[in-house]
Amino acid sequence: MMTFHLNRPRRLFIALTAVCALAACGSSADDAIIAEAEPTNDSTTDTDTTDTNSSDTDSSDTDTTAGVESAQWGDNVSITIGDGEFRFESDGIPNHELPDQFLVPQEGSFSPPVGEDEVTAVDTSVAVVETTVDQTITLNPVYSETTTDTNLGIIGVTISGAQLFNDYEDPDRSFVAVDDNFSIDGIFFVDSCNGHPLALAADGSGQGTYHYHGIPYCITDAIDADGEHSSILGFLLDGFPFYGPQDEGGATITSDELDECSGHVGPTPEFPEGIYHYHLTEDRSPYTVDCYHGEVEVSAGPGR
Ligand SMILES: [Zn+2]
Ligand SMILES: [Zn+2]
Repeated sequence: MMTFHLNRPRRLFIALTAVCALAACGSSADDAIIAEAEPTNDSTTDTDTTDTNSSDTDSSDTDTTAGVESAQWGDNVSITIGDGEFRFESDGIPNHELPDQFLVPQEGSFSPPVGEDEVTAVDTSVAVVETTVDQTITLNPVYSETTTDTNLGIIGVTISGAQLFNDYEDPDRSFVAVDDNFSIDGIFFVDSCNGHPLALAADGSGQGTYHYHGIPYCITDAIDADGEHSSILGFLLDGFPFYGPQDEGGATITSDELDECSGHVGPTPEFPEGIYHYHLTEDRSPYTVDCYHGEVEVSAGPGR
């Protein structure tokens, strides 16, 4: 007999993942691979494709190098700091505990699953597959008054090695993964870390890619200190950092306190002078980031 619940996953794995995260996920900056990069061929191309329409003298003096260097990248992440940009490489699999199984949509189905006959319980060893994540992100993000909607697919890179997605499972933005989460017999669509793998897609693109749609508690529980602003969780593709829900003094920030892109300007542990940054929130959608407030070149990726 199947039981069908509409609720969020309980944080069953917290004790276990906190240990894991402290031991393995929360490796210090010393453990991260940080090296001077020779300028890559990509850098010329990237410059050409950026939206920047102003000279580099007047647009922004934001430099996120200190944050990139001090972020607690997992051992499964390689960070290479280059000239004005950094390169993030990982196998896409988060370095924290995952549940044994996920509910994933039926193969070939694109509609978000709304019932138990549209999903299959799949072992995590099958559902979550390695995905090469290789992103080059600017170290000099430029705030833009004009916002750019985030697409499905990757919108940011996380210290755990996994990808950050926006809130939605569908291009129409009608299915919010965290709000519409459900479980069957204790197996969830979105796990206690607010992440899950992509559907086992028929076309194979992005198949099995693990990604977050909300606060990854199994990371924030390990890296955020009581009474303090959250620590860097990663960077959006526009180059601005994103954080868990703790604002200055450790208060839990809500979506209403942030701008339309879930960001604000203020000091953070890595940027005590203040910087524009995003927060993931838990009170209501957007739980992650539904638009960029920085200049960014985006393309639609596979994702749900
Ligand atoms: Zn903040
Ligand atoms: Zn998803």
